[in-house]
Formats: sequence, structure tokens, C-alpha cells
Amino acid sequence: MSNPFDLTNKVALVTGCDTGLGQGMALALAQAGCAISGVNVVEPADTVARMKAGGFRFLDIRANLATNEAIPDIIERTVAHYGRIDILVNNAGIIRRADALDFSERDWDDVLGVNLKTVFFLSQAVARQFLVQGGGGRIVNVASMLSFQGGIRVPSYTASKSGVAGLTRLMANEWAKHGITVNAVAPGYMATNNTAPLLADAERSKAILDRIPAGRWGTPEDVGGPVVFLCSPAATYVTGHILAVDGGWLTR
Ligand code: NAD
Repeated sequence: MSNPFDLTNKVALVTGCDTGLGQGMALALAQAGCAISGVNVVEPADTVARMKAGGFRFLDIRANLATNEAIPDIIERTVAHYGRIDILVNNAGIIRRADALDFSERDWDDVLGVNLKTVFFLSQAVARQFLVQGGGGRIVNVASMLSFQGGIRVPSYTASKSGVAGLTRLMANEWAKHGITVNAVAPGYMATNNTAPLLADAERSKAILDRIPAGRWGTPEDVGGPVVFLCSPAATYVTGHILAVDGGWLTR
């Protein structure tokens, strides 16, 4: 029987993979057999080095996902280089923290732009490419605990990640008939740049840790396996699902 998690020769477009969870997911997909097209606003030097060390294929595309402008170029360059796209991981995301009473319009628009608007229009462009190719495809969005909970001091982030959960279900509904699955991983509290201010705050960091049944913060490696699963033949009949990768946070 063939390995149901094998992704040999699949092409995965991963946004925001210079560091953090995106890097963890890109490396896991590469280990499962994927060629990676990495879309980054900064030079992904560490990821390039790790891909090289593993003998993995990595196409380095630079683009700012704050707007939709770069989307046609991202698709064209990936298809020109690899011939096709099989998987999209919408990982790039930002967060702004301020009390809801003081929250600025700028912090609202910036976060919604990267975390929600670009996620939709890049998914739309990749889904159109899947239709041109035939044979379906996989989209994995990156949701959050704040797709389920309200959080504090991050109104635009909560709105964006709650939106990502809804959008995941909508795209799953519309595109299932084309053999496209659309799912999301919802990471819990993971130690990355995104959560550095929380980790640096001794009181908040302890309060968070005390509520994680697994007894530790998550790591970029923790999201690798779940993403490989959702992109693999093993998950062909899984769509519209938001998979919490949270050490038990939500069950508490
Ligand atoms: P991170 O800040 O290290 O990574 C964010 C990534 O997005 C980086 O690669 C960054 O370069 C990229 N990015 C930001 N703005 C961009 C832009 N304008 N154009 C292109 N790329 C851009 O943090 P992370 O925790 O690795 O975040 C990855 C994803 O996981 C985000 O969507 C985040 O919301 C989500 N998430 C993180 C946690 C956590 O606890 N760390 C929890 C739930 C969800």
C-alpha cells in the first residue's frame, strides 16, 4: 500500500515562510516530498539555508502581501518554474495590540489586509489555477484560537482570524465539486515573533502556560504534521475543517 501522507513532487506555495510557523510548515511539506514556492516580504535566508541543507527544492519569491498587487506575478512565477501548483498554505499574518478603546483605523486596515483580504484573493487565484490544471488541489489557511474565542487587545486580529474560519468554510463549500479541499489549522499559543510580547510579559506568559494542558507553548514543528496531513491523500475527504493545534487549550 502506498504511503497516504506522501507528497512527492507536489508543488506547495507557502506564504510567510522566512521564520516561525510558515517555516515549520514549509519544511514539513518539503520533507513529505513537496517542491516549495516561498512568498516572503523579507529575504528568507534561514529558510533557504535549511532547504538547501535538506536537499529540498525552494523557489524564493519576494512580495508584499499587504495588497493584492503581487498575486498574478506569484502565480505566474511559480507555474513558470515548477509547471503547476498543488497546494496553497496561507500563512503570512500580522497582529497589532492595543486596547479596543484606543485601537486605530490603521491597525484595523493593515491586519485585515494581510490576514483576510489577501488570503481570499490569493486563494481565488490559486483555485483558478487548479481549475486550469484539472485534478483539484489543497488550500490550508492559518486560523487561530481567536477564530473561536474573543481574545483581548487584538480586535482586528480576532476579526481577521474569525473571518478566516468563515472563509475556509465558504471556499470549501464552493470548491469541493472541483476536488479542491479548503481547511485551516488553528495554532494555539506558539513561541514565534507573533507572540514574543506575550512571552516577554511574565504574568501573561504564566497565565497562558497554566491553561495549556500539554504544559508547554507550541513550536513551528508542531504545525508541520497537521499541515502535511491536510495536504495529503489521507485527507481527500476532509474539507471545511478547522484543526486546532493547541496542546489542548480549547478543550480546557
Ligand atoms: P511571525 O510573525 O514569525 O510570522 C509571520 C509571517 O508573515 C512572517 O513570515 C512574515 O514575514 C510574514 N508577513 C507578515 N507581513 C507580510 C506581508 N505584508 N507580506 C508578506 N509576508 C508577510 O509569526 P507566526 O506566529 O509564525 O505567524 C504565522 C501565522 O500563524 C500568522 O498567520 C499568525 O497569525 C498565525 N498564528 C500564530 C500563532 C502563534 O501563537 N504564534 C497562533 C495562531 C495563529
